[in-house]
Amino acid sequence: MKELSNVVQQIKPSGIRKFFDLASTMEGVISLGVGEPDFDTPWHICENAIYSMSNGKTHYTANRGLLELRKVICEFHRIRYGQNYDPEKETLITVGGSEAIDLAMRALINPGDEIIVMDPNYVAYEPSIQLAGGTVVRIRLKEENDFKLLPEDLKAAITPKTKAIMLNFPSNPTGGVMTYEDYEKIVPIIKESDIYVISDEIYAELSFDQEFASLAQFPEIRDQVIVINGFSKAFAMTGWRLGYALANKEVSGAMTKIHQYVIMSAPTAAQYAGIEAMMHGIDDVLKMKNDYLNRRNLLVNRLNRMGFKTNCPHGTFYVFPNIQRTGMTSDEFCSKLLEEELVACVPGTAFGDSGEGFIRISYAYSLDHIKQALDRMEHFIQNHPLKDID
Ligand code: PMP
Repeated sequence: MKELSNVVQQIKPSGIRKFFDLASTMEGVISLGVGEPDFDTPWHICENAIYSMSNGKTHYTANRGLLELRKVICEFHRIRYGQNYDPEKETLITVGGSEAIDLAMRALINPGDEIIVMDPNYVAYEPSIQLAGGTVVRIRLKEENDFKLLPEDLKAAITPKTKAIMLNFPSNPTGGVMTYEDYEKIVPIIKESDIYVISDEIYAELSFDQEFASLAQFPEIRDQVIVINGFSKAFAMTGWRLGYALANKEVSGAMTKIHQYVIMSAPTAAQYAGIEAMMHGIDDVLKMKNDYLNRRNLLVNRLNRMGFKTNCPHGTFYVFPNIQRTGMTSDEFCSKLLEEELVACVPGTAFGDSGEGFIRISYAYSLDHIKQALDRMEHFIQNHPLKDID
């Protein structure tokens, strides 16, 4: 048989999946691995989808998605995040944030263009850059800087070939955030270099200790920013596959062109669910967020007390503890923890080389579940005492 695409062959399988395939073959495993809310979608949201289907809304929608949904999204973003977009020309409803990431890359990249990503970063970014023919350039984020992007590091990474920077704050996997003041320092660099920003804001609603900030709030670079968001995390709607992109009309038009050929339109029932979520779902979001916050506090306290240096994540539902005191690599640590204590976490290296020495723990699990896993981790370090390192 003829060979498959070289680009596809070069792409590594996701480091998250690899681990979970192993865990799923074992009995009694407690997982802290999956980045998906443990809550079911609030029922009133489901009902709106059911109602739409019972009324014959079972057809394609406009390529960009239902105008009514686009309008409520733009209103939501105006009120909650101070971002202003035109529902007709600057808004595109996609199949999850995942599709929007892929479309953004394909709409922007010419062969050889450089796209800057944070290291560690969400597992889908680098493959989507490679598939679109781009070159990945990484900026190492450091624990001592709370995993924020520093202006000097951004400046150093930009070359004449840079087309865009891919950002994700609050961040999967680190839980790091950028405040408005942090962004103020990088806005002039973005303006001057004229690069695009693809801003994956899927965890915007899960910002705990500060108001969510976005580069799209700065008028001087607003047209350079592509905002990606979705319903999966905030509204516990992963299975509905609903997301969206907000961008200036040229970029949005280019993304819509690709979308119309590969997708046509996002699932219609999901779009009706999305309307209800944005119009009446905010109380549900706040309730879930409060639960995540309690879980975060428990995890950060207990992990630090155990001796794992753990920065407090100011957003998302992940913590990113430092496991260097075990003397093990991230992979060894996760493998041994799984084998000996039946607890599944994700090695930090699944998110890039800078993740070495860290693991990602998800707290999209009940408090009881998390407590049990922490008890097992405590037992684990009794058998593998932590070393002193400076
Ligand atoms: N971005 C980030 C940072 C994520 O963590 C995820 C889901 N794990 C996505 C995008 C994709 O989400 P979805 O396609 O479900 O909207």
